[in-house]
Amino acid sequence: MNYFSCLRCSACQKDYPPDRLWNLCPDCGKPLLAEYELDKIASLLDKNELKNRVNTIWRYRELLPVEYDRYQLSLGEGCTPLIRASRLENLIEFSEIYIKDEGINPTGSFKARGLSVAVSKAWELGARALSIPSAGNAAGAMSAYAALANLSAHIYMPEDVPQSFLTECRMFGAEITLVDGLITECGKQSIEDAKKFNRFDLSTLKEPYRLEGKKTMGYELAEQLNWKLPEVIIYPTGGGTGLVGMWKAFDEMQSMGWIDHHRPRMVCVQSDGCAPLVNAFLTRKQFAEPWQNAKTVADGLRVPAAIGDFLILNILEKSHGVALAVSDEEMMEAARIIGKYEGLFVSPETGATLAAFMKLRERGWIKENSRVVLFNTGSGYKYSHLWK
Ligand SMILES: *Cc1c(COP(=O)(O)O)cnc(C)c1O
Repeated sequence: MNYFSCLRCSACQKDYPPDRLWNLCPDCGKPLLAEYELDKIASLLDKNELKNRVNTIWRYRELLPVEYDRYQLSLGEGCTPLIRASRLENLIEFSEIYIKDEGINPTGSFKARGLSVAVSKAWELGARALSIPSAGNAAGAMSAYAALANLSAHIYMPEDVPQSFLTECRMFGAEITLVDGLITECGKQSIEDAKKFNRFDLSTLKEPYRLEGKKTMGYELAEQLNWKLPEVIIYPTGGGTGLVGMWKAFDEMQSMGWIDHHRPRMVCVQSDGCAPLVNAFLTRKQFAEPWQNAKTVADGLRVPAAIGDFLILNILEKSHGVALAVSDEEMMEAARIIGKYEGLFVSPETGATLAAFMKLRERGWIKENSRVVLFNTGSGYKYSHLWK
Protein backbone atom coordinates (compact mmCIF):
# COMPACT_ATOMS: atom_id res chain seq x y z
CA MET A 1 0.00 0.00 0.00
CA ASN A 2 2.48 2.62 -1.10
CA TYR A 3 2.03 5.20 -3.82
CA PHE A 4 5.16 7.25 -3.33
CA SER A 5 6.89 6.88 -6.68
CA CYS A 6 9.98 9.10 -6.77
CA LEU A 7 11.61 12.36 -5.80
CA ARG A 8 11.68 15.02 -8.49
CA CYS A 9 13.91 18.08 -8.55
CA SER A 10 11.84 21.25 -8.30
CA ALA A 11 14.25 23.02 -10.65
CA CYS A 12 15.82 20.57 -13.16
CA GLN A 13 13.01 17.95 -12.96
CA LYS A 14 15.41 15.04 -12.64
CA ASP A 15 14.00 11.96 -10.83
CA TYR A 16 15.56 10.06 -7.93
CA PRO A 17 14.51 6.71 -6.43
CA PRO A 18 12.69 6.85 -3.09
CA ASP A 19 14.52 3.93 -1.47
CA ARG A 20 17.34 5.94 0.11
CA LEU A 21 17.88 9.26 1.86
CA TRP A 22 18.40 12.38 -0.23
CA ASN A 23 19.06 15.98 0.65
CA LEU A 24 19.16 18.50 -2.22
CA CYS A 25 19.25 17.54 -5.89
CA PRO A 26 22.76 16.13 -6.43
CA ASP A 27 22.78 17.68 -9.90
CA CYS A 28 21.62 21.25 -9.39
CA GLY A 29 21.41 21.75 -5.62
CA LYS A 30 17.72 22.64 -5.47
CA PRO A 31 14.95 21.04 -3.35
CA LEU A 32 13.54 17.62 -4.24
CA LEU A 33 9.79 17.06 -4.08
CA ALA A 34 7.95 13.77 -3.49
CA GLU A 35 5.79 12.42 -6.33
CA TYR A 36 2.88 10.03 -5.88
CA GLU A 37 0.73 7.88 -8.13
CA LEU A 38 -2.19 10.24 -7.73
CA ASP A 39 -4.45 8.54 -10.26
CA LYS A 40 -4.26 5.29 -8.29
CA ILE A 41 -4.90 7.06 -4.99
CA ALA A 42 -7.86 8.90 -6.52
CA SER A 43 -9.40 5.65 -7.70
CA LEU A 44 -9.26 3.87 -4.37
CA LEU A 45 -9.52 6.61 -1.73
CA ASP A 46 -12.80 8.42 -1.19
CA LYS A 47 -12.10 11.85 0.27
CA ASN A 48 -15.31 11.72 2.30
CA GLU A 49 -14.04 8.63 4.13
CA LEU A 50 -11.08 10.49 5.58
CA LYS A 51 -13.12 11.81 8.49
CA ASN A 52 -13.52 8.27 9.82
CA ARG A 53 -9.78 7.89 10.15
CA VAL A 54 -7.27 8.70 12.88
CA ASN A 55 -7.16 12.35 14.02
CA THR A 56 -3.57 13.04 13.03
CA ILE A 57 -1.71 13.86 9.81
CA TRP A 58 -1.41 10.09 9.26
CA ARG A 59 -5.00 9.99 8.04
CA TYR A 60 -3.47 11.07 4.73
CA ARG A 61 -0.98 8.18 4.76
CA GLU A 62 -1.43 7.35 1.05
CA LEU A 63 -0.17 10.86 0.32
CA LEU A 64 2.79 10.62 2.68
CA PRO A 65 6.13 8.98 1.93
CA VAL A 66 6.41 6.49 4.81
CA GLU A 67 6.05 2.96 3.46
CA TYR A 68 5.37 0.84 6.57
CA ASP A 69 2.85 1.93 9.19
CA ARG A 70 5.12 0.85 12.02
CA TYR A 71 7.47 3.72 11.17
CA GLN A 72 4.78 6.38 11.57
CA LEU A 73 5.94 8.42 14.57
CA SER A 74 2.99 10.15 16.13
CA LEU A 75 2.39 12.39 19.11
CA GLY A 76 -1.03 13.49 17.90
CA GLU A 77 0.14 16.06 15.31
CA GLY A 78 -2.28 17.69 12.90
CA CYS A 79 -6.08 17.73 12.64
CA THR A 80 -5.96 21.08 14.40
CA PRO A 81 -9.08 23.21 14.76
CA LEU A 82 -10.07 25.81 12.20
CA ILE A 83 -11.56 28.41 14.50
CA ARG A 84 -14.10 30.95 13.32
CA ALA A 85 -12.80 34.19 14.85
CA SER A 86 -16.18 35.81 15.55
CA ARG A 87 -15.13 38.38 18.11
CA LEU A 88 -12.30 39.48 15.86
CA GLU A 89 -14.77 39.74 12.99
CA ASN A 90 -16.93 42.06 15.11
CA LEU A 91 -13.97 44.12 16.21
CA ILE A 92 -12.65 44.80 12.73
CA GLU A 93 -15.97 44.54 10.95
CA PHE A 94 -15.14 41.84 8.49
CA SER A 95 -17.28 38.89 7.57
CA GLU A 96 -15.27 35.69 7.60
CA ILE A 97 -12.01 35.18 9.43
CA TYR A 98 -10.70 31.80 10.49
CA ILE A 99 -7.65 30.91 12.51
CA LYS A 100 -6.03 27.56 11.83
CA ASP A 101 -4.74 26.82 15.31
CA GLU A 102 -1.41 25.08 14.89
CA GLY A 103 -0.41 26.11 18.41
CA ILE A 104 -1.97 22.97 19.89
CA ASN A 105 0.32 20.64 17.97
CA PRO A 106 2.80 18.52 19.94
CA THR A 107 5.70 20.81 21.01
CA GLY A 108 3.46 23.81 20.40
CA SER A 109 3.94 24.54 16.71
CA PHE A 110 3.24 23.28 13.21
CA LYS A 111 6.87 22.17 12.99
CA ALA A 112 5.56 18.94 14.50
CA ARG A 113 3.85 18.07 11.22
CA GLY A 114 6.98 18.30 9.14
CA LEU A 115 9.25 16.62 11.61
CA SER A 116 6.85 13.80 12.36
CA VAL A 117 7.11 12.79 8.70
CA ALA A 118 10.79 13.62 8.18
CA VAL A 119 11.99 11.75 11.28
CA SER A 120 9.71 8.80 10.47
CA LYS A 121 11.11 8.52 6.95
CA ALA A 122 14.72 8.93 8.04
CA TRP A 123 14.18 6.19 10.62
CA GLU A 124 12.53 3.91 8.07
CA LEU A 125 15.48 4.36 5.72
CA GLY A 126 17.97 3.50 8.42
CA ALA A 127 19.29 6.79 9.82
CA ARG A 128 20.59 6.51 13.38
CA ALA A 129 21.52 10.13 14.07
CA LEU A 130 19.83 13.35 12.96
CA SER A 131 20.86 16.99 12.91
CA ILE A 132 19.03 20.25 12.42
CA PRO A 133 19.70 23.99 12.48
CA SER A 134 16.84 25.83 14.14
CA ALA A 135 15.92 29.17 15.59
CA GLY A 136 13.48 27.48 17.92
CA ASN A 137 10.42 25.40 17.16
CA ALA A 138 11.90 22.99 14.62
CA ALA A 139 14.53 21.88 17.13
CA GLY A 140 11.97 20.98 19.77
CA ALA A 141 9.85 19.07 17.29
CA MET A 142 12.77 17.12 15.87
CA SER A 143 14.05 16.28 19.34
CA ALA A 144 10.65 14.95 20.37
CA TYR A 145 10.22 12.64 17.38
CA ALA A 146 13.84 11.52 17.54
CA ALA A 147 13.22 10.56 21.18
CA LEU A 148 10.22 8.46 20.11
CA ALA A 149 12.33 6.57 17.59
CA ASN A 150 15.40 6.37 19.84
CA LEU A 151 17.56 8.27 17.32
CA SER A 152 20.21 10.70 18.48
CA ALA A 153 19.30 14.37 17.90
CA HIS A 154 21.90 17.09 17.27
CA ILE A 155 20.63 20.65 17.41
CA TYR A 156 22.36 23.82 16.12
CA MET A 157 20.87 27.01 17.52
CA PRO A 158 21.83 30.70 17.46
CA GLU A 159 23.48 31.75 20.73
CA ASP A 160 20.70 34.17 21.59
CA VAL A 161 17.90 31.59 21.30
CA PRO A 162 15.30 31.99 24.08
CA GLN A 163 15.81 29.67 27.06
CA SER A 164 12.44 27.95 26.63
CA PHE A 165 13.48 26.50 23.27
CA LEU A 166 16.73 25.21 24.73
CA THR A 167 15.11 23.64 27.76
CA GLU A 168 12.58 21.87 25.58
CA CYS A 169 15.31 20.18 23.50
CA ARG A 170 17.25 19.19 26.60
CA MET A 171 14.16 17.57 28.08
CA PHE A 172 13.89 15.44 24.93
CA GLY A 173 17.48 14.35 25.37
CA ALA A 174 18.96 16.22 22.39
CA GLU A 175 22.57 17.37 22.15
CA ILE A 176 22.74 21.13 21.61
CA THR A 177 25.41 23.24 19.92
CA LEU A 178 25.08 27.00 20.28
CA VAL A 179 26.38 28.86 17.24
CA ASP A 180 27.72 32.41 17.15
CA GLY A 181 25.58 33.65 14.27
CA LEU A 182 22.17 33.36 12.68
CA ILE A 183 20.25 30.37 11.38
CA THR A 184 22.32 30.44 8.16
CA GLU A 185 25.52 29.83 10.15
CA CYS A 186 23.76 27.13 12.15
CA GLY A 187 22.81 25.50 8.86
CA LYS A 188 26.41 25.43 7.63
CA GLN A 189 27.72 23.87 10.81
CA SER A 190 24.89 21.36 11.05
CA ILE A 191 25.59 20.10 7.52
CA GLU A 192 29.35 20.03 8.04
CA ASP A 193 29.07 17.97 11.22
CA ALA A 194 26.44 15.73 9.66
CA LYS A 195 28.94 14.78 6.95
CA LYS A 196 31.71 14.27 9.46
CA PHE A 197 29.72 12.14 11.89
CA ASN A 198 27.39 10.38 9.48
CA ARG A 199 24.18 12.06 10.60
CA PHE A 200 21.21 12.88 8.39
CA ASP A 201 20.55 16.62 8.21
CA LEU A 202 16.93 17.78 8.34
CA SER A 203 17.25 21.46 7.34
CA THR A 204 13.98 22.61 5.90
CA LEU A 205 13.58 21.98 2.14
CA LYS A 206 17.13 20.57 2.06
CA GLU A 207 15.38 17.30 2.81
CA PRO A 208 12.13 16.46 1.02
CA TYR A 209 9.86 15.16 3.78
CA ARG A 210 9.26 18.05 6.17
CA LEU A 211 7.41 19.61 3.26
CA GLU A 212 5.27 16.48 2.96
CA GLY A 213 4.30 16.73 6.62
CA LYS A 214 3.48 20.41 6.35
CA LYS A 215 1.42 19.97 3.21
CA THR A 216 -1.19 18.22 5.35
CA MET A 217 -2.28 21.73 6.41
CA GLY A 218 -3.58 22.16 2.87
CA TYR A 219 -5.48 18.86 2.98
CA GLU A 220 -6.99 19.72 6.35
CA LEU A 221 -8.10 23.16 5.26
CA ALA A 222 -9.90 21.67 2.28
CA GLU A 223 -11.47 18.94 4.39
CA GLN A 224 -12.57 21.40 7.09
CA LEU A 225 -14.07 23.80 4.56
CA ASN A 226 -15.93 21.03 2.77
CA TRP A 227 -13.49 20.91 -0.17
CA LYS A 228 -13.81 24.57 -1.01
CA LEU A 229 -10.63 26.51 -0.36
CA PRO A 230 -10.74 30.01 1.18
CA GLU A 231 -10.16 33.15 -0.91
CA VAL A 232 -7.10 34.28 1.03
CA ILE A 233 -4.49 32.50 3.17
CA ILE A 234 -2.15 34.63 5.26
CA TYR A 235 1.02 32.80 6.20
CA PRO A 236 4.02 34.01 8.25
CA THR A 237 6.91 32.95 6.05
CA GLY A 238 10.44 32.02 7.09
CA GLY A 239 11.71 29.13 4.99
CA GLY A 240 8.31 28.92 3.31
CA THR A 241 7.88 25.17 3.80
CA GLY A 242 4.25 25.55 4.84
CA LEU A 243 3.36 27.80 1.96
CA VAL A 244 5.04 25.60 -0.64
CA GLY A 245 3.62 22.51 1.06
CA MET A 246 0.03 23.76 1.04
CA TRP A 247 0.30 24.70 -2.62
CA LYS A 248 1.59 21.21 -3.39
CA ALA A 249 -1.40 19.79 -1.53
CA PHE A 250 -3.74 21.95 -3.63
CA ASP A 251 -2.08 20.66 -6.83
CA GLU A 252 -2.38 17.07 -5.66
CA MET A 253 -6.01 17.49 -4.61
CA GLN A 254 -6.91 19.07 -7.93
CA SER A 255 -5.19 16.20 -9.81
CA MET A 256 -7.25 13.73 -7.82
CA GLY A 257 -10.46 15.64 -8.47
CA TRP A 258 -10.95 16.47 -4.78
CA ILE A 259 -11.14 20.23 -5.38
CA ASP A 260 -11.78 22.41 -8.42
CA HIS A 261 -9.36 24.92 -9.91
CA HIS A 262 -10.18 27.79 -7.52
CA ARG A 263 -7.15 28.65 -5.43
CA PRO A 264 -6.61 31.02 -2.54
CA ARG A 265 -4.51 34.12 -3.03
CA MET A 266 -1.45 33.36 -0.93
CA VAL A 267 -0.03 36.06 1.33
CA CYS A 268 3.56 35.84 2.54
CA VAL A 269 4.15 37.93 5.68
CA GLN A 270 7.62 38.71 6.95
CA SER A 271 9.14 41.02 9.56
CA ASP A 272 10.53 44.34 8.36
CA GLY A 273 13.73 43.29 10.17
CA CYS A 274 14.13 40.29 7.83
CA ALA A 275 12.15 40.48 4.61
CA PRO A 276 14.14 38.94 1.76
CA LEU A 277 11.05 37.52 0.04
CA VAL A 278 9.16 40.81 0.25
CA ASN A 279 12.09 42.56 -1.42
CA ALA A 280 12.27 39.99 -4.17
CA PHE A 281 8.51 40.11 -4.68
CA LEU A 282 8.43 43.91 -4.94
CA THR A 283 11.32 44.00 -7.38
CA ARG A 284 9.92 41.06 -9.35
CA LYS A 285 12.97 38.87 -8.90
CA GLN A 286 12.95 35.14 -9.37
CA PHE A 287 15.33 34.55 -6.45
CA ALA A 288 15.78 36.50 -3.20
CA GLU A 289 18.95 38.30 -2.13
CA PRO A 290 20.15 37.18 1.32
CA TRP A 291 19.03 39.69 3.98
CA GLN A 292 21.80 41.41 5.92
CA ASN A 293 21.67 41.79 9.74
CA ALA A 294 18.36 40.00 10.17
CA LYS A 295 16.65 41.04 13.38
CA THR A 296 13.16 40.24 14.64
CA VAL A 297 11.50 38.83 17.76
CA ALA A 298 9.72 36.33 15.53
CA ASP A 299 12.32 33.56 15.48
CA GLY A 300 10.42 31.61 12.85
CA LEU A 301 10.74 34.54 10.45
CA ARG A 302 14.43 35.15 11.04
CA VAL A 303 15.50 33.34 7.88
CA PRO A 304 17.80 35.60 5.83
CA ALA A 305 17.97 33.23 2.84
CA ALA A 306 15.38 30.58 1.96
CA ILE A 307 16.49 27.74 -0.28
CA GLY A 308 12.95 27.51 -1.67
CA ASP A 309 12.74 31.25 -2.48
CA PHE A 310 11.97 30.66 -6.17
CA LEU A 311 9.17 28.24 -5.30
CA ILE A 312 7.55 30.73 -2.90
CA LEU A 313 7.84 33.62 -5.35
CA ASN A 314 6.39 31.49 -8.10
CA ILE A 315 3.38 30.57 -5.94
CA LEU A 316 2.78 34.21 -5.04
CA GLU A 317 2.67 35.03 -8.72
CA LYS A 318 0.50 32.08 -9.75
CA SER A 319 -1.99 32.67 -6.94
CA HIS A 320 -2.17 36.45 -7.52
CA GLY A 321 -0.84 36.73 -4.01
CA VAL A 322 1.36 39.26 -2.32
CA ALA A 323 4.31 39.57 0.06
CA LEU A 324 4.47 42.26 2.73
CA ALA A 325 6.38 43.10 5.88
CA VAL A 326 5.12 44.23 9.27
CA SER A 327 7.13 45.57 12.20
CA ASP A 328 7.81 43.67 15.42
CA GLU A 329 5.65 46.20 17.29
CA GLU A 330 2.76 45.62 14.90
CA MET A 331 2.95 41.85 15.25
CA MET A 332 3.15 41.97 19.03
CA GLU A 333 0.22 44.33 19.25
CA ALA A 334 -1.81 42.10 16.92
CA ALA A 335 -0.87 39.04 18.99
CA ARG A 336 -2.33 40.83 22.02
CA ILE A 337 -5.56 41.44 20.13
CA ILE A 338 -5.82 37.75 19.18
CA GLY A 339 -5.30 36.86 22.84
CA LYS A 340 -7.83 39.31 24.14
CA TYR A 341 -10.51 38.61 21.56
CA GLU A 342 -10.07 34.93 20.75
CA GLY A 343 -8.51 33.43 23.86
CA LEU A 344 -5.46 32.20 21.99
CA PHE A 345 -1.96 32.88 23.33
CA VAL A 346 -0.09 33.08 20.03
CA SER A 347 3.47 33.59 18.84
CA PRO A 348 4.58 36.90 17.30
CA GLU A 349 4.62 35.18 13.88
CA THR A 350 0.88 34.69 14.27
CA GLY A 351 0.42 38.31 15.26
CA ALA A 352 2.11 39.14 11.96
CA THR A 353 -0.74 37.51 10.03
CA LEU A 354 -3.37 39.71 11.68
CA ALA A 355 -1.21 42.82 11.26
CA ALA A 356 -0.83 41.94 7.56
CA PHE A 357 -4.56 41.36 7.24
CA MET A 358 -5.28 44.87 8.58
CA LYS A 359 -2.81 46.43 6.14
CA LEU A 360 -4.14 44.54 3.14
CA ARG A 361 -7.68 45.45 4.00
CA GLU A 362 -6.76 49.10 4.31
CA ARG A 363 -5.14 48.89 0.88
CA GLY A 364 -8.33 47.36 -0.52
CA TRP A 365 -6.46 44.19 -1.44
CA ILE A 366 -8.81 42.06 0.64
CA LYS A 367 -12.43 42.50 -0.32
CA GLU A 368 -15.49 42.12 1.90
CA ASN A 369 -17.28 38.78 1.64
CA SER A 370 -14.12 36.83 1.19
CA ARG A 371 -13.10 34.04 3.46
CA VAL A 372 -9.70 34.66 5.04
CA VAL A 373 -7.59 32.12 6.92
CA LEU A 374 -4.86 33.27 9.29
CA PHE A 375 -2.32 30.75 10.52
CA ASN A 376 -1.48 30.48 14.19
CA THR A 377 1.78 28.71 13.43
CA GLY A 378 2.93 28.42 17.01
CA SER A 379 1.83 28.84 20.58
CA GLY A 380 2.85 31.96 22.50
CA TYR A 381 3.83 30.02 25.61
CA LYS A 382 7.44 29.49 24.56
CA TYR A 383 7.77 33.23 23.96
CA SER A 384 6.65 34.43 27.36
CA HIS A 385 10.04 36.22 27.69
CA LEU A 386 8.69 38.74 25.16
CA TRP A 387 5.59 39.78 27.04
CA LYS A 388 7.00 40.19 30.54
C1 LIG B 1 9.05 28.00 11.50
C2 LIG B 1 8.00 28.93 11.86
C3 LIG B 1 7.42 29.79 10.91
C4 LIG B 1 7.88 29.81 9.46
O1 LIG B 1 7.49 28.64 8.80
P1 LIG B 1 8.02 28.27 7.34
O2 LIG B 1 7.05 27.26 6.83
O3 LIG B 1 9.39 27.72 7.49
O4 LIG B 1 8.02 29.51 6.53
C5 LIG B 1 6.38 30.61 11.31
N1 LIG B 1 5.94 30.62 12.59
C6 LIG B 1 6.47 29.82 13.54
C7 LIG B 1 5.93 29.89 14.94
C8 LIG B 1 7.51 28.95 13.22
O5 LIG B 1 8.04 28.16 14.15
